[in-house]
Amino acid sequence: MRTLIISDIHANLVALETVLEHAGEVDAVWCLGDVVGYGPNPNECIELLKEQPNMVSIMGNHDAAAIDELELNTFNPEARRSIEWMREILKAESYEFLGSRPRQLVMEGVTLVHGSPRQPIYEYLLDTRAATENFEYFTTDFCFIGHTHLPVLFYMEPGDYLAGLTIPPIQQKTRLKPRAIINPGSVGQPRDRDPRAAYALFDTTEQTWHYKRVEYEITTTQERMQKAGLPERHILRLEGGW
Ligand code: ZN
Repeated sequence: MRTLIISDIHANLVALETVLEHAGEVDAVWCLGDVVGYGPNPNECIELLKEQPNMVSIMGNHDAAAIDELELNTFNPEARRSIEWMREILKAESYEFLGSRPRQLVMEGVTLVHGSPRQPIYEYLLDTRAATENFEYFTTDFCFIGHTHLPVLFYMEPGDYLAGLTIPPIQQKTRLKPRAIINPGSVGQPRDRDPRAAYALFDTTEQTWHYKRVEYEITTTQERMQKAGLPERHILRLEGGW
């Protein structure tokens, strides 16, 4: 099964459309959370996502913030401002979609979470020590995560005491070896200084990971953000990839 793995769309419709087109026909779409937040088109992103074949989407911290007042305290003032803007324009169907997202799923023997297996919504998995600890919190061979917006593959083979870290080569298929925690990077707000949208294609039979990057019309998204009055820093970071 050819599965599109995406994460952290962040209401960037242009980036999402570009990724969907670039990926071509797929059998399923697994989204690792944060469909909304930061960007100008939360409703449209949710609508487009819902149209995708065999689509599942996990609850991200921004998705949670859209629906729950308490979550807002965990964000900085700029992020809070854009969340408040989003809450005003979100349609009832969008709220319903966000509110019904699972925190964790197992699909075809793969665990899906936004943050980490240990803390599905909030933990940032950035280093090998945290990754090592997290291998104890899921039982499947593979776990796909988002949240950091950084494409990375943590691996731990039998007998290893510490997880290893690698960045899968772009535009190349990698055969996955058990066990691994993998992040496809971010569709709508990459933070690895490469502003191109990131995603991956996962073949559930061959167990291959095909990590990809694609350019999209960043200026269109920026113009829409400007129009919506969203924070300048969030507009600027898109072109720098930070
Ligand atoms: Zn995010």
